[in-house]
Amino acid sequence: MKFKKRTEQVQILVPPDFTPEIQKIEHRLDPLTGSRCLINIKRSQRAKQAERLARPLDEIAFGTAPGCYFCPEHIQTATPRFPEDICLGGRISKGESTLFPNLFAFGGYHAVATISRKHFLNIDEFTPRMIEDNLTVCIEWMRAVHRKTPRAAWPVYVWNHMPPSGASMVHPHTQALVRTMPTAMQERLLKRSAAYHRRKGRSFWEELIETERKSGERFIGENDSLAILASFAPRGFREIQLIFHEPSNLAELGEKQIADLASAVISVLKGYRAMGVGSFNLNVFSGPIGQTLEYYPLNAKMISRPYPQGVYSSDTGPFERLQDEWVIETLPEDVANRMRPFFR
Ligand SMILES: [Zn+2]
Ligand SMILES: [Zn+2]
Repeated sequence: MKFKKRTEQVQILVPPDFTPEIQKIEHRLDPLTGSRCLINIKRSQRAKQAERLARPLDEIAFGTAPGCYFCPEHIQTATPRFPEDICLGGRISKGESTLFPNLFAFGGYHAVATISRKHFLNIDEFTPRMIEDNLTVCIEWMRAVHRKTPRAAWPVYVWNHMPPSGASMVHPHTQALVRTMPTAMQERLLKRSAAYHRRKGRSFWEELIETERKSGERFIGENDSLAILASFAPRGFREIQLIFHEPSNLAELGEKQIADLASAVISVLKGYRAMGVGSFNLNVFSGPIGQTLEYYPLNAKMISRPYPQGVYSSDTGPFERLQDEWVIETLPEDVANRMRPFFR
């Protein structure tokens, strides 16, 4: 397995006395997809003018609570229901999680599932039980949808926390989709994984875990079900990969695997909190329901997003949106170093 990178040095004369400074830039390629990023960790020290106007997190968290549809006093009357042939009663609940249809769907089957009764939780305040219950209601719904519509076989699970991550609701929630076709990234990952397996006679993912475990540079930890590492060529800051040994798709996760995923996510969130993170995305990349693919294990990514503070500089500019090149200011090897203690 090759981790391709090219290093460049830029000399800048820095005011006020214009002393020379060398900045190191790494251009890296994702070993499976070829996705490109450039890493300049100096960028994290940029002056961000709008941050002078930052609002305290409490103000954003609690100022948004009145009238929230996801809070317990409104959820029964203000959120939509599924038809009875998908779930009796129109919603699925377990513990603090309640799943219901997304009012503004991306397609035929698109659900929202709350994670907590509380309107706001900081990222280190989630419990393993909350995440397990949330995953469980989403997976139960995915199985029901697939039984009703076998063509709906492509599950997606996302957790956007706080507005900088794309969340429109502050109240903790995830989204579950079951699509009749893969997302562009699902398709790319599956095609590349199949091609790798044909060419090398083994799974890219098994080899990735083995290579990273051996080198140790980006390896963070593992439990019975999955391995956790910092991506070599990230598409987001502090990008973490969670890679299962099996199964290939989300709908087949068992209780123990759900618990192991929840525990890994909790550890990442504690690590993120220690690094000053207040907003993040989690995305699960699943194979199709009903297929066991020896070349593709279920896997997920987490990335940190700008701190929620009213006005902030976006972490996504024209290079990411239009040039398809990811500008990163956190070095994966540093992220792994800082995350590792939370997996001991
Ligand atoms: Zn100006
Ligand atoms: Zn709420």
